[in-house]
Amino acid sequence: GATIGILGGGQLGRMLSVAAGRLGFRTHIFEPGAEPPAGQLAHSVTTAPYEDRAALTAFAEAVDVITYEFENVPTEALDLLGEMRPIRPGREALRVSQDRLVEKDFLSGLGLSVAPYADVADAAGLSAAIETIGAPAILKTRRFGYDGKGQARISRPEDAEAALAELKGAPAILEGFVAFSHEVSVIAARGRTGEVACFDPGENVHEQGILRTTTVPARLTPAHRQDAVLLAGRILNALDYVGVMGVELFVTAQGLVVNEIAPRVHNSGHWTQNGCAVDQFEQHIRAIAGWPLGDGVRHADVVMENLIGTDMDRVPALSQERDVALHLYGKSEVKPGRKMGHVNRIVRG
Ligand code: ATP
Ligand code: MG
Ligand code: MG
Repeated sequence: GATIGILGGGQLGRMLSVAAGRLGFRTHIFEPGAEPPAGQLAHSVTTAPYEDRAALTAFAEAVDVITYEFENVPTEALDLLGEMRPIRPGREALRVSQDRLVEKDFLSGLGLSVAPYADVADAAGLSAAIETIGAPAILKTRRFGYDGKGQARISRPEDAEAALAELKGAPAILEGFVAFSHEVSVIAARGRTGEVACFDPGENVHEQGILRTTTVPARLTPAHRQDAVLLAGRILNALDYVGVMGVELFVTAQGLVVNEIAPRVHNSGHWTQNGCAVDQFEQHIRAIAGWPLGDGVRHADVVMENLIGTDMDRVPALSQERDVALHLYGKSEVKPGRKMGHVNRIVRG
């Protein structure tokens, strides 16, 4: 059987490895950190930094296709890997999603609504941006942000200096605060032949910048539900995308506003493991392997809840509840804010 190389050994790589194994593939993880959660369930693991060209070369030689669960892989590593094996989703998706400014330009270039935004290179740039965008606003680093890290709220113009200090001078964008009623996301897939399939949008609640719960079905009018799926398809087609993508949206009185895209399986798609015949992980493996996509139809109402940090103390109780599927990531060390697992609660099957 073929071997799928996965860049990144976190829980997403772990669940991709399970899905790949079920379809008869082998997986090989490349991960700089020690004891990657994916390593326990993959067939092989390379532990090396992305700067180790010999390790990258050996990894590429050992696999047939390369995918990733982590979009911040350095460009030089991707150049080397991409010369040897296909990388799916492709480089364009990574180029766009690695940088919030490039991403916002791309999305607005497609005619989609995004928050008002401006490039912020320095203090002068920030004052100018606050002049045009106003407050409240959010200063976000262009690169490497996740779980709300690398962001500072600007409630009043006087907060500018503190916000800049918090981001330690990293290149940033200022985003106007979107007055949304709630947040939803679409987990969308595109196959090698260009077919697109979307899972039903989920409604997301964040706490302290971290996803707390995803509920399906989301509260959406039929028109918004259709918009969500169509705009996701437009993004995938524009990138000639292959694989699964998460598209985060704000629901507003003026319609849907795209927050950000993630070129990979997505935390807000974990409900599909227990709400669909083919989940987002299998869907991703199908897409990158050139298989037909599953249709993603939803057969239950589900609430996904992340188990973060000491939420792990609730596992004994959760394990006794009916209609609760536990998914634990095998991480030995509990840290505040660390995603340790999640549960999918079937609300109506
Ligand atoms: P992720 O872990 O999803 O990658 P991230 O660090 O990239 O998170 P964002 O998605 O940009 O962060 O922001 C996290 C949350 O902060 C959003 O889901 C939303 O709740 C809030 N938020 C971000 N940008 C805005 C905005 N412009 N207006 C209002 N709320 C926002
Ligand atoms: Mg993000
Ligand atoms: Mg986000």
